[in-house]
Amino acid sequence: MSKRALITGVTGQDGTYLTELLLEKGYAVHGITRSLSAESTLLFRQLIPPGAPFELHQCDLTSKQAVKRLCQDVEPDEIYNLASQSHVGESFNNPLETLSANATATLILLEAVREFDKHGKEVRIYHASTSDMFGSPDNYPQTEKTRFHPRSPYACSKIYAFHQMVNYREAHGLFACNGILYNHESPRRPERYVTRKITMAAAKIAAGLQNELTLGNLDVGRDWGYAKEYVVAMWKMLQQATADDYIVATNEWHTLEEFLERAFHRVNLNWKDHVRQDPAFMRPAEVTRLQGDYSKAKEELNWEPTVRFGELIDLMVDADVALLKEHA
Ligand code: NAP
Repeated sequence: MSKRALITGVTGQDGTYLTELLLEKGYAVHGITRSLSAESTLLFRQLIPPGAPFELHQCDLTSKQAVKRLCQDVEPDEIYNLASQSHVGESFNNPLETLSANATATLILLEAVREFDKHGKEVRIYHASTSDMFGSPDNYPQTEKTRFHPRSPYACSKIYAFHQMVNYREAHGLFACNGILYNHESPRRPERYVTRKITMAAAKIAAGLQNELTLGNLDVGRDWGYAKEYVVAMWKMLQQATADDYIVATNEWHTLEEFLERAFHRVNLNWKDHVRQDPAFMRPAEVTRLQGDYSKAKEELNWEPTVRFGELIDLMVDADVALLKEHA
């Protein structure tokens, strides 16, 4: 019988790539969304071949009863916990919602997994941890041993969830893995995130549909990878003999200014002619530079990124140029 996977946050960037990957691997996939909108139903109708074993469920992940009921119905073999209030800037405005969506919901899922365990069924669980937990790190590049120093309510909530995953692994013997993923992007990244905002703006300015792009701090540095490759690492973690935590990154570091330069260059523009900085976009506390050492994932998961910084930006800009043409 095929394995059953349950994915929370399935409508997000990673959720859609992971769904495609697991369907390719022969899984039956159950996805969770907070609201079964016409938009989310259409999204999967466009992505998934007709008749593929995929089901979308509506569930409030902060309700212990609702999660327990859904887990009992689906009886998953693997759970990928991707749902999150994952916008760092927004977490400063809504720290309580962020805590509940990211930390409490993870604990509720862990309790559901423990319930299966009590009845002799192993359910493996993956949690979407983040490089933001390192915030202002002591060392470069960061490894799985680097001390956490969170710089946002988002990062604080993710650290709570991270430790609960480790705690349930150690205290109850659950197969629980944290993937500490560095920023990963794709044409599916929503436009409220700065990378997609930049690639779409470059495409629109080149097409004469927009004049200017307003951004905050350009000095921030990140380790950017391709989301489609990062979901493979998630899956690999749950196929290991023992559960563990892994950094998933490229071990390259670039500034947002470099991102801009590459994106605008792709459409033969100079970013300096079009970008304006506005202090309103600055965060109360900023993560200035993150860079991840993925050696452990390479050694133990046989996982390595192939799409690097320049190629990633080019494919995102090209996709936005194509999207605009399609809708012209
Ligand atoms: P995403 O697109 O921002 O969000 C995933 C899904 O979470 C959304 O589609 C949404 O689904 C649900 N969601 C949003 N706000 C929520 C809330 N307040 N309460 C409950 N659910 C909410 O995330 P992603 O980029 O795919 O990333 C997947 C996971 O990896 C997230 O946990 C993120 O924090 C983590 N992560 C991402 C990155 C990255 O660079 N992308 C890096 C490190 C870690 P519905 O609206 O359908 O419910």
